[in-house]
Amino acid sequence: MIIALAIFIDLIIILLSLKYAWWYPSKSTKKTRIMMYHMISDHLPGSKKSGLRVSPTMFEKHLQYFHNNGWKFIKMSELKNYENADKVVALTFDDGYLDNYTNALPLLKKYNACATLYLVIDRHKNDWSVKKNPKHNSGVLADEEKLSDDNIQEMINSGIFELGGHTITHPFLPNTSTEDKQYEMLECKNILEQKFNTKVSSFAYPFGIYDQDDVNIIRSSHYESAVTTNEGVANNRMPFELKRVKASGKDNFFAFRLRVLKGFRGFI
Ligand SMILES: [Zn+2]
Repeated sequence: MIIALAIFIDLIIILLSLKYAWWYPSKSTKKTRIMMYHMISDHLPGSKKSGLRVSPTMFEKHLQYFHNNGWKFIKMSELKNYENADKVVALTFDDGYLDNYTNALPLLKKYNACATLYLVIDRHKNDWSVKKNPKHNSGVLADEEKLSDDNIQEMINSGIFELGGHTITHPFLPNTSTEDKQYEMLECKNILEQKFNTKVSSFAYPFGIYDQDDVNIIRSSHYESAVTTNEGVANNRMPFELKRVKASGKDNFFAFRLRVLKGFRGFI
């Protein structure tokens, strides 16, 4: 009986050690942390996509953590100026959800922070998750309210947000022809720059899924950087395949801190 209990406790300890890899060495604070967010909103009862929703209360804790521990907030266009600088963080938001304006903007203002918004141009009533997997067609992303052009202009004018490209329709690149890929990836930059009278220098691969041809399209364009959804800290020697630190709505604050320090939370 005692042996069974000891084995059970050992198993729990092993599982927790894999879930939260606190024993894993921290990455140098001279590697920029590019944080990946989607929505800043409270979880809806029974709703899917909870991993994409960081609550406003938790988001404020994130901002307090960076602010109180001496991290400098930058936009992605500034990344090249901070190679090997200590404690630099770039907050990024993917897709263009309305709560980035209603919930994130006031908090970013409060903590004197800034961020980069990777905006999908055809974002209204567009459930792009179905493009990656037809079984994903839950309609949740289509129903989620997106930013209006007026919201976006105000966010840029505030000086807090800059825009990054995230394609026109959020295609699944492996199923997209080379010609369409080029149009989606490069034309979105021109559209955003003209519509919002701003400079767009960074790109985010839709779903974080890309191959070497996609990297080459971005590299040979006028983009200066591109982010993936691969987890980790930024490697300046690979500016077109930058890893990001995932901010998950399923994480507690302890898990968030592990992610910032180590680039990822754990193995399970
Ligand atoms: Zn996206």
